[in-house]
Amino acid sequence: MGYQLNEEGFNAMLSELTKEYLIYAPKCYQGGNTFSDTDCIRYGEIRRAEDIVFDRKSDYSFKEVLLPVSETLFYFTEEQVKEADVPRKKGAVIFLRSCDLHAVKRLDDMYLKNGPADYYYRRLRENVKFVLMGCAVSFDNCFCGDMGSDQADNYSVSVDKKGDFYYLDCKDEAFAEILKALPHAELEVAPCHVTENKVKVNIPDHLDASIAKSTMWDEYDTRCIACGRCNFVCPTCTCFTMQDLFYSENGKVGERKRVWASCMVDGFTDVAGGGTYRRKNGERMRFKVLHKVWDYKERNGYHMCVGCGRCDDICPEYISFSNCINKLEKAMEEVSES
Ligand code: SF4
Ligand code: SF4
Repeated sequence: MGYQLNEEGFNAMLSELTKEYLIYAPKCYQGGNTFSDTDCIRYGEIRRAEDIVFDRKSDYSFKEVLLPVSETLFYFTEEQVKEADVPRKKGAVIFLRSCDLHAVKRLDDMYLKNGPADYYYRRLRENVKFVLMGCAVSFDNCFCGDMGSDQADNYSVSVDKKGDFYYLDCKDEAFAEILKALPHAELEVAPCHVTENKVKVNIPDHLDASIAKSTMWDEYDTRCIACGRCNFVCPTCTCFTMQDLFYSENGKVGERKRVWASCMVDGFTDVAGGGTYRRKNGERMRFKVLHKVWDYKERNGYHMCVGCGRCDDICPEYISFSNCINKLEKAMEEVSES
């Protein structure tokens, strides 16, 4: 069922939702981006329509709502361990775009289906509803079309803002009850979706492990500065590391946290005895790229990358992930001829 709401109606819907949910959406943080004097679009709690950024792609994804950047798992003393309270007491409604809704499936794969379900992820994932934000046009660097993530239908509600009105397609009974009680017009609504991206990618279907021998990775030894930003903006990167924080007053008391980790930064592959598996930045790039567009698909049947293009947007060295993917075909030919 489709609905047309004016801004007052849309705000009334948000206000109703806040009784049971915290609402997260892309917000503008002034001056907070990679390059000086540029704003950062990042997820945060919202209450009103004007808080939501509809006309730009978010620089960071929704991921931190389900997987906090830093999350205390438990507190310990010499004698006791106490589990940390769940960071959010209410359910959550997350506004996100089609590529990110596809990314939720990847996070669920990693945290709910890759062995026993992760307890901490599951308790934040429960009672979460998704609002699909339609994309009328492709943003810079997006390649969702070639990754099959340009459309999604597993949302509770979709929303497209056109002029002064909001057009919603509702698939959720609880949302429908709220919407029906508001002044609205009923009509057919289909969420906007991108029909063409400027950026195209070609992922060879005959990729195999010999691609690791290609010299194509060498350029990243010097170009990449191993800052890890590409991992932190990626909605499908799921690695974390553990940190024990000891309180200074009593060194035997503290808390254990898990914090996001990056396969591109120094230390990620350090092992006991002083070894490091991927010392060169090109080796790290190879690992990241092939995980996103090869070995994940071997296990799950679809690529990990959803083509959001955020890694290209954020890289301070202008390294393009999509350009890198497009070098794979030629590199495979070269290694098979050598
Ligand atoms: S590819 Fe770019 S964003 Fe990623 S680690 Fe290297 S320099 Fe940083
Ligand atoms: S690898 Fe880049 S384009 Fe693919 S999902 Fe991650 S941030 Fe988006």
